[in-house]
Amino acid sequence: MRNMGPWIFDANRHRRLVVAAPHPDDETLGAGGIIAEASRRSLPVVVVSLTDGEAATDEVGLGDRRHGELLASLRCLAPPGVQRVVRCRLPDGGLSERREELIAILRSETDAGDLLLAPLYCDGHPDHDAVGTAALSLAAQPGIDVGFFPIWAWHWHDPSVSVVAAGGRRIELSPASSAAKARALACFVSQTCGADPVLPHHFLDRFGDSYEVVVQP
Ligand SMILES: [Zn+2]
Repeated sequence: MRNMGPWIFDANRHRRLVVAAPHPDDETLGAGGIIAEASRRSLPVVVVSLTDGEAATDEVGLGDRRHGELLASLRCLAPPGVQRVVRCRLPDGGLSERREELIAILRSETDAGDLLLAPLYCDGHPDHDAVGTAALSLAAQPGIDVGFFPIWAWHWHDPSVSVVAAGGRRIELSPASSAAKARALACFVSQTCGADPVLPHHFLDRFGDSYEVVVQP
């Protein structure tokens, strides 16, 4: 894996960071540290929250609860004046049937000078793959840089053949950004707590590292 050095952004090129999240928590797991680093540089951050993640369990009202957790998480990563959330309310679990809509949403929320980050197009979860594939289609658009963060790929890919190992670049996080990410992840109580959490400790361990990884097309 190549090291990108201390920072991913090109100050002469990027105006905003746009992060596409299939479910509330993906933006924090995959790019929370990068969001915090962008905020420290006063770079505006837009999180495109595609679903509310309402199908993760059968809890009544889970979508609203998870959206609230997302807002709380982002407050840990960046002040309200720097970040904003676009709530799309697409169906959790149904994004692979919404490919054209995903492309249209991402097109409308990105502009020249943006760095767009999305889950890896081959992450292994159908919603993640659909959003990553939609983002990949924007990579040819002039002035937009696109990168991909692994979530489930950390656990499901064979490292000997994974695009993460072959093309991933390490983004080193400052101690302050790592700490902000830890506080942000703690906001997702609905996913991380209880007797049988959706995101168990052995899954979360990987996301406590002092770096994040971005794969570039
Ligand atoms: Zn997800």
